[in-house]
Amino acid sequence: MENTLIIATRNPGKTKEFKKLFADFGYEIKDLSDYPELPEIEETGSTFEENARLKAEQIAELTGQVVIGDDSGLCVDVLGGLPGIWSHRFSAPDPTDEKNIAKLLHELAPTAITPERRSAHFHTTLVAARPNHDSLVVEADWNGYIALAPKGGNGFGYDPVFMVDAFRTAAELSEKEKNQLSHRGQALRKLMQELPEWLEK
Ligand code: IMP
Repeated sequence: MENTLIIATRNPGKTKEFKKLFADFGYEIKDLSDYPELPEIEETGSTFEENARLKAEQIAELTGQVVIGDDSGLCVDVLGGLPGIWSHRFSAPDPTDEKNIAKLLHELAPTAITPERRSAHFHTTLVAARPNHDSLVVEADWNGYIALAPKGGNGFGYDPVFMVDAFRTAAELSEKEKNQLSHRGQALRKLMQELPEWLEK
């Protein structure tokens, strides 16, 4: 069990990326779908860090294990950072990736169409928590801009409209390419630099 970490998510897209990323570091990953008895943790925070802490610290208390909480989202400059912490719920009450993307493109429709006006970044905050210890917090951004129309079939969430360069969306990258560049990949590599020392404390 020593090399098992719980990721506090039920999002299969995120878990898939974490499994791949952590495999390189020799950790086995479980997520909340492996613990159906655990309650849903409400994301009531007003920042990425507050939400990541809520998930990691509550699940760590309940399970007694080391838990990684991730809160991430897409921040679009011309929308003042929205959808931000509401990325998953942007098209509430019944959000789907397709509806979230449609709403985002609709919100951006009146803005000038130059890439500079559509600049955005993905953000990830990761919190590692375990009972009776201060949590470890790391974060990272991935800069890009919003496409005029969705393109590509890989990834999840807003990947089909996140241009990583002049030609490709994040949904056109292979899993490996995305992990090398992404906010989640960068944050995870930072976490893995600090995790061994934190586990010793
Ligand atoms: P969370 O579960 O509250 O962290 O929701 C994060 C949401 O942000 C996801 O459901 C996606 O809509 C979006 N998001 C976060 N990371 C990514 C990514 O790597 N690609 C595409 N969308 C992402």
